[in-house]
Amino acid sequence: MALKRQFNAIKYRDPAWLDADGKPWLKTIHRDAHAQPFAHLAQAWDTFFKDIKAGKPAHAPKFKKKGRCRDSFYVANDKFRVEGKAIRLPKVGWIKMAETLRFEGKVLGATVSRTADRWYVAIQVEVKDCDFYRKRSGDGVIGIDLGVKAIATLSTGEVIEAPKPFKRALRRIQIRTRRLSRKLTSANVQVGWKPNQPIPKGARLPVSNNRQKSAAIVARTHARVANLRADFLHKLTTNICRENQAVVLENLNVRGMMGNRRLARAIADVGLYEFRRQIAYKAKRYGTHVVIADRWYPSSRLCSVCGWNNDALTLSDRAWTCPHCGTHHDRDINAARNLERLVTATTLPEASPSSDGGAATEGVFVAVGQVTPVRYNSITESGQEEKVRTFARDFHSRKA
Ligand SMILES: [Zn+2]
Repeated sequence: MALKRQFNAIKYRDPAWLDADGKPWLKTIHRDAHAQPFAHLAQAWDTFFKDIKAGKPAHAPKFKKKGRCRDSFYVANDKFRVEGKAIRLPKVGWIKMAETLRFEGKVLGATVSRTADRWYVAIQVEVKDCDFYRKRSGDGVIGIDLGVKAIATLSTGEVIEAPKPFKRALRRIQIRTRRLSRKLTSANVQVGWKPNQPIPKGARLPVSNNRQKSAAIVARTHARVANLRADFLHKLTTNICRENQAVVLENLNVRGMMGNRRLARAIADVGLYEFRRQIAYKAKRYGTHVVIADRWYPSSRLCSVCGWNNDALTLSDRAWTCPHCGTHHDRDINAARNLERLVTATTLPEASPSSDGGAATEGVFVAVGQVTPVRYNSITESGQEEKVRTFARDFHSRKA
């Protein structure tokens, strides 16, 4: 607040804040756009000091700069108006939108932002609970084995391939980025700097329309890749949450996997982290339970039919046959079935000797870490509603 007061005292007077005609340039933008950042800053410092106290990795807020960051500004709810497919923004006026506002309720505010050459407005609406929660269309229970080749292998046997838009666009991105890079180099040479030296602070390259056009093309290419990925992930995660009352995922260390330089691009292209994030928030909307298996739960190595622990299984084995019961397993489907078992069963049909010297594998499905085994009564005569409630109660009581 002290910083804000200091800013308010000088913003229309200080010579550094006046334009060439001696007028304060802040008057040309709307007040919310330069008032709201103080609230954001306060929140950012709060989080920073809380994280430090909690011993978590903390990140101090960084400066933003027009064109160098995510270009965006906030508009308070009394400063804009939405009518059908149009929005009236302060200082800008009426603008057509691509679609109407789909939610009814109290409008709290809006954030206008830019991605590549397109502008978006995110309108925050407080909706009734009944408008937020969605009805599930199914009561399935599935385990999902996540991967890079197939993003999700379901315990139902379905294998879902990710589109990997970045891989497909890589060549195009390389060519277009190279064209932009040549224009930057020539601009550097034009001002007398070395071809690839970083631009000194405060300095600007001469304005060039062709360079701007080229930069816009690169940005659009990247934006399209991100849109393709987001579209696929949203449809997939919505379907999974809508059709199931319980979803079991493995606990992948995505950040750790991103540290592998050979895998990082493929993992980022599939969007594994985003998949987990979307499942988590959509599950709330559909009342779906998400169970995260412990990182050390051997979902690939167990036989999903008899519980045999195949210690000899290596990463390159895509399929294997259980020596105990003779079932032939696809590696990923078997893993997905074992994950599903974490909520559908607490024990396997029979205890079986493990391959490491015949010790009984009792407790194979005992809860480890975050795993919460739940007995799921799949056949009840009381109907679907009852079934869901029984399941939910069991889930919470055992977790506690
Ligand atoms: Zn077996």
